[in-house]
Amino acid sequence: RNNAEKFEFQAEVSRLMDIIINSLYSNKDIFLRELISNASDALDKIRFLSLTDKEVLGEGDTSKLEIQIKLDKEKKILSLRDRGIGMTKEDLIKNLGTIAKSGTSAFVEKMQSSGDLNLIGQFGVGFYSVYLVADYVEVISKHNDDKQYVWESKADGAFAISEDTWNEPLGRGTEIRLHLRDEAQEYLEESKLKELVKKYSEFINFPIYIWATKEVDVEVPADEDESSDEEETTDSSSSEEGEDEDTEKSEDEETEKKPKTKKVKETTNEWELLNDVKAIWLRSPKDVTDEEYTKFYQSLAKDFGDEKPLAWSHFTAEGDVEFKAVLFVPPKAPHDLYESYYNSNKANLKLYVRRVFISDEFDELLPKYLSFLKGLVDSDTLPLNVSREMLQAHSSLKTIKKKLIRKALDMIRKIAEEDPDESSGKDEKDVEKSGDDDEKKGQYTKFWNEFGKSIKLGIIEDATNRNRLAKLLLFESTKSDGKLTSLDQYISRMKSGQKDIFYITGTSKEQLEKSPFLERLKKKNYEVIFFTDPVDEYLMQYLMDYDGKQFQNVSKEGLKFGKDSKNKELKESFKELTKWWKNALASENVDEVKISNRLDNTPCVVVTSKFGWSANMERIMQSQTL
Ligand code: ADP
Ligand code: MG
Repeated sequence: RNNAEKFEFQAEVSRLMDIIINSLYSNKDIFLRELISNASDALDKIRFLSLTDKEVLGEGDTSKLEIQIKLDKEKKILSLRDRGIGMTKEDLIKNLGTIAKSGTSAFVEKMQSSGDLNLIGQFGVGFYSVYLVADYVEVISKHNDDKQYVWESKADGAFAISEDTWNEPLGRGTEIRLHLRDEAQEYLEESKLKELVKKYSEFINFPIYIWATKEVDVEVPADEDESSDEEETTDSSSSEEGEDEDTEKSEDEETEKKPKTKKVKETTNEWELLNDVKAIWLRSPKDVTDEEYTKFYQSLAKDFGDEKPLAWSHFTAEGDVEFKAVLFVPPKAPHDLYESYYNSNKANLKLYVRRVFISDEFDELLPKYLSFLKGLVDSDTLPLNVSREMLQAHSSLKTIKKKLIRKALDMIRKIAEEDPDESSGKDEKDVEKSGDDDEKKGQYTKFWNEFGKSIKLGIIEDATNRNRLAKLLLFESTKSDGKLTSLDQYISRMKSGQKDIFYITGTSKEQLEKSPFLERLKKKNYEVIFFTDPVDEYLMQYLMDYDGKQFQNVSKEGLKFGKDSKNKELKESFKELTKWWKNALASENVDEVKISNRLDNTPCVVVTSKFGWSANMERIMQSQTL
């Protein structure tokens, strides 16, 4: 084309496309899910804009918020069209090729090691999955602010963009044409497409239509035939199961026998609706099956792995601020959960106002430490016709956030309570529903291994919920026997007369087990918690007490256990020695030299003052691990 402008794909994108093209990955179906998800996002965007400006929707067909699929068997083209926001020329250049998303290289690495493309959507590069099935792709797009353009690429390192002067005007939105590879001809079968849309797009909130072929018997006059290409676009929503497909179609068109009048099979087309648009969160939790929750989670989180979410909570909040919400604990932490934790916006909840999608970028809905949760909030209280900025500042968000945190922590607590490995089984009956009944065993350890650090960060950041979060802590201790244990379990094992909760910090359990600080405590059968994660040092600066008991670092001053009856006498008799020691060691190095009852075999030990950094903290600060 003479008006085409050529561009090169950004290097990471080009690598990704090479991998996709040469992939032996068998589940090629996923491309459709990604295209539908993009179409749905684009429709969400225009619908959101239309809240404050109705004009943006346009008139007639253009204003219909829907997705259409068409198959062209002769040209081997599968096309998918949406009436979403569309892309300007600049959008096409940036979004489809020149700017790599932050997850691109992470995904490329993952692909090279696992070959599994299923999670492509999570990394923000789902579009490129079209090259699993197509060797040539055209993206025709019309945005309200620009002319209609065509993006095209054969995935050979370059793409071209031209002003569209030859296709039918789209009005607004995007049409993606996949020129299917020879091995991917199955995607021209109507039945296959219908099956896939049902499977992958159950929770898409816009109608999805397919241009379905219907065979009908008609009386055809001898000289009049072949006028089947109707341009009519009636939104027929009949949901009959379409007959497989019509292999005789092309035959009919080719033959030139012309009897006077004959009964023939003629193929006509009509738009057939493939999904029923339903909002799962509006249904009553008791009517939603576990399988439906799992599928909903998958489409929401773009997590199509084999594992179910670890837990979910579906509830309605009433009062001054009304909303419905569904929260999920994913089975696995996302690849970048703690990457630039304090600087990035990692909101994962989708906010709806009265069924209209508003944003998934509101970090006001959950605190950072809970950003690993996925889910959705739909509020009737928030205003619809205001800008995103005004919504973001709306006072109701604070109330919503508070309730979401409570519900989230309840949901996590329940994973522990329902896990037979974590025996501490009291709970208040809640209206909400969470988890399913089989396989609860080991679920909390699994949760802990994926998200334990988030709970610790929560204790540091969220003073209001510190105690609730502390209840969720797991750790190893001198008595946990290589397993993980909780504070409640620790307390249940405390010796009579023991006032404090003892802990020690260091790099590993193996190192700590040999510590002279533990000698006496072990001998006297006191339990000591091992904190070996760098974040634990920070954690223990915030976690002062639990259930009325103080935390005592056994390598710090202030350790008290058992009776100190002989201490006074000993102090007196060793007074000269301790004095000598103190003078012998320069005073910048030690504050004090004391008689201690914390040791057994070791003659002496260096202890940190109560408010000073522990030796472990010194080590951490030197290496700046957090
Ligand atoms: P993601 O959807 O996670 O952002 P994709 O690779 O699927 O990543 O899509 C890349 C970008 O291309 C999208 O963010 C969007 O800006 C744009 N895009 C893709 N498909 C469409 C579409 N049908 N309408 C409008 N924009 C689209
Ligand atoms: Mg996408």
